[in-house]
Amino acid sequence: MNEQKTKKSYLVDAEGYYGEFGGAYIPEILNKCVTDLRNVYLDIIQDDAFQKEYNQLLRDYVGRPSPLYLAKRLSARYGGRIYLKREDLNHTGAHKINNTIGQILIARRMGKTRIIAETGAGQHGVATATVCALMNMECIVYMGKLDVERQQVNVQRMKMLGATVIPVTSGNMTLKDATNEAIRDWVCHPEDTFYIIGSTVGPHPYPDMVARLQSVISKEIKGQMMEKEGRDTPDYLIACVGGGSNAAGTIYHYVDDEKVKIILTEAGGKGIDTELTAASISLGLEGIIHGSKTILLQDADGQIQEPYSISAGLDYPGVGPFHANLAAHKRAKVMVVDDDEALRAAFELTRLEGIIPALESAHALGVLNKIPHFKDEDVVVICLSGRGDKDIHTYLDNQQRIEKKYAD
Ligand SMILES: *Cc1c(COP(=O)(O)O)cnc(C)c1O
Repeated sequence: MNEQKTKKSYLVDAEGYYGEFGGAYIPEILNKCVTDLRNVYLDIIQDDAFQKEYNQLLRDYVGRPSPLYLAKRLSARYGGRIYLKREDLNHTGAHKINNTIGQILIARRMGKTRIIAETGAGQHGVATATVCALMNMECIVYMGKLDVERQQVNVQRMKMLGATVIPVTSGNMTLKDATNEAIRDWVCHPEDTFYIIGSTVGPHPYPDMVARLQSVISKEIKGQMMEKEGRDTPDYLIACVGGGSNAAGTIYHYVDDEKVKIILTEAGGKGIDTELTAASISLGLEGIIHGSKTILLQDADGQIQEPYSISAGLDYPGVGPFHANLAAHKRAKVMVVDDDEALRAAFELTRLEGIIPALESAHALGVLNKIPHFKDEDVVVICLSGRGDKDIHTYLDNQQRIEKKYAD
């Protein structure tokens, strides 16, 4: 931590802030839970026995290291050498499992026996239910009633894994309301319950803890870059941002090296000039959501504005404080990719490389035809955060329309 005092860093400071963003804005009753976690999480994560168990599970259970794949046909189209970091090949289909494995090991070391989680599309719920089955822990997942209806397959997966899925009927019955309900549960069971948050959001230490658990992504990129390119730094890192965890993992070991350009993409939905958008960094204002001071979509009265994106994983009204600060200091270039642009990019990757990406990841790919052609010597790493099996109906429903819209 001393290192961060002497050298300017974009990582969290000793008080739990990223510049002016972050902190822990929580009700009094949660103070003990959050303080307990804050007091132990670094020691646990840095402990040798934890690292050994965590890394062994990442290797043998998740299937890490995930490959760094040189996408030749994509590179031929957009220039440079474009690599895909294949988080889509992980067990359960996305990067989320890196985080849930780490948090459940922390929960166990804290003596907790009951796990709660919130989920929107169900991806984080499935990743949490998976590790609860693995560790034989009780698992309760809060999910908006509307999302329960929209995401039946993931609800069935969670139930098969032994989780209890509780449909939430307050508010708009989506992710924000599920999160509120999970916090309410935590308030009622502070002694035995651990709340596994699915992204780099929430009160400190969650954003830092999740970023550290996902930082295995950039740790691997460093080694794989060295092997393939003879240098460990790429010229560009590109990732999509919902709450920010796959992006945080991708940039973690590079963020203080200003030579590495960072592009974060957020979901434009139907367009940033409409109300149907999730572009929280581009359109949001400073405020507090789920225990953290950050940037979020809000109306003139400061009420949280309901976000919209075709991609359920990016459909969140805020963004993690780490990313809010990167944007405020222009350390990262933030670009908006709307629904149709993401769909176009998903079809393009599928036909060029034989990889069907998650709709979330397609938002990262969607910047390629919005930025200048890369130079021959540029090395670009894009985080392919998840696979597209879950999105197949959306793809099929939109294929003809998108092909017509973007036909040259
Ligand atoms: C949940 C999800 C995201 C968005 O979450 P972040 O925390 O921003 O990474 C992105 N991609 C996939 C595949 C997801 O499941």
